[in-house]
Amino acid sequence: MMDWVMGAYGGIKAATDITQSMLTLKTDAAVTTKVVELNGVLLGLQGQLNSAHAEHTALTSRIRDLEAEVTQFKNWEEEKERYQLHQFQTGTLAYRIKPMMHGSEPPHDLCANCYQSGVKSILQACEDGWYKALKCHRCNSLIRTEKIPDTGPTFITVDRDQSGCF
Ligand SMILES: [Zn+2]
Repeated sequence: MMDWVMGAYGGIKAATDITQSMLTLKTDAAVTTKVVELNGVLLGLQGQLNSAHAEHTALTSRIRDLEAEVTQFKNWEEEKERYQLHQFQTGTLAYRIKPMMHGSEPPHDLCANCYQSGVKSILQACEDGWYKALKCHRCNSLIRTEKIPDTGPTFITVDRDQSGCF
């Protein structure tokens, strides 16, 4: 049992005992002493209830967080089944939406790194030097997918030393 529950039961027992004993008191001074004692017990009890309330609030909030986490986990378990591992020309990997599963969404790929962490992160097309690439904006992974064909000596105006990823 939690500490505050034991404390609260102890406080109630003490207050009841004091109240019972007051019935037999003969003088005002004796009554005053018992009232002071009773107030002390009641203050202690109030403190126990405040801690109990704080603990209850914290636990309720923790349960809500965990429930949200479980829901998110279940959604991801369903969502991840829509994708399968795909290997690009360069040998790099991403999770590609299954042909029968994309519905009205355009075909797209998910970051394999984020997928393993249980997060859906859609890769965005870009270029990296002489390669077409996919960029994950969550973990900054850059996945080269295929070499851009060399169009010959006339192709000199584009500076391919710079990454074209945003
Ligand atoms: Zn990622």
